[in-house]
Amino acid sequence: MTVDILPWHQAHWQRLNDQIEKASLPHALLIAGPPMSGKQGIARALVERLLCQGKDAPCGECHQCQLVSAGTHPDLLHVTLEDSKQILINQIRGLIDWASQTSQQGGYKVCLIDPADRLNIQSANALLKCLEEPPAGTCILLITDQPKRLLPTIRSRCHLVNCRLPESEEALAWLQERNESGIDTALLLEIAGGLPLKAVASVTDGYLALRKKLADLLTGVTMGSESPIQFAAGVAGEDPTEVLDILYQLIADTIGITLCGEVVIRNSDLKIKLDEFASAVKVERRFELLDRIAHAKGLLGSTSNANPQMLFESLFIEAA
Ligand SMILES: [Zn+2]
Repeated sequence: MTVDILPWHQAHWQRLNDQIEKASLPHALLIAGPPMSGKQGIARALVERLLCQGKDAPCGECHQCQLVSAGTHPDLLHVTLEDSKQILINQIRGLIDWASQTSQQGGYKVCLIDPADRLNIQSANALLKCLEEPPAGTCILLITDQPKRLLPTIRSRCHLVNCRLPESEEALAWLQERNESGIDTALLLEIAGGLPLKAVASVTDGYLALRKKLADLLTGVTMGSESPIQFAAGVAGEDPTEVLDILYQLIADTIGITLCGEVVIRNSDLKIKLDEFASAVKVERRFELLDRIAHAKGLLGSTSNANPQMLFESLFIEAA
């Protein structure tokens, strides 16, 4: 079985494999990097590598590999968000209990905590004790987009695997081989903010269409042909965080156009629409909108139950 590790993460992968072979793998790894940077790919490959008991691990064929693939391996625990926006102490108590038992399949035990930045203070403190006295044969993988949100004491007890973004030439070469969209590869990468995995996903998951729709709605709502309520209705059902991210990028691009002229903008295929917006809305108001979007994104990510529809309406009502 070939493990699908991105070329720019191969050095990490090689080092982790060397550590496994020398039985010196740290008991806790913090796998950090921007969204869609390939963190989950490394974590998944590591889970398969650690739990496989076949030759040339991960073999993809042994009983262990089959259990992992079916999502039923008893020595693999996945701690993630359940009904709350935080990882709660009960979940970490469950982890500690699981970690204290011997391996059911006689090999490593692996726990994934994802997103690790959502540990609350109680659960982080409970986890800390487990990291200080790690049970033998257990590997804890903490995955996060925002490593700085973890307690420094947690960070310092984990070995960091920093999933960097590729250089643009490296990313373009990789993407070129996979781009069957008919869209220019450089443009596709630019729209995805330099994230090659996001560029691949954007072709199939509706991201490109959503971006175009938002450019129209944004122009409509700021020029008065659509009301804020119509705007909110137009984005109902979409991922609110993604909508805010795209709005932020579109408006930031218009500021780039106004202030820097020929600067390279991310959404260059929508330049006509962005020019229209830039000429109709004062740059001060566009900066204000960026602040409001950043604030709304913070509210969505916080533990308060922000209502996305009201957030979208208020973005434009209050800025008017
Ligand atoms: Zn196997």
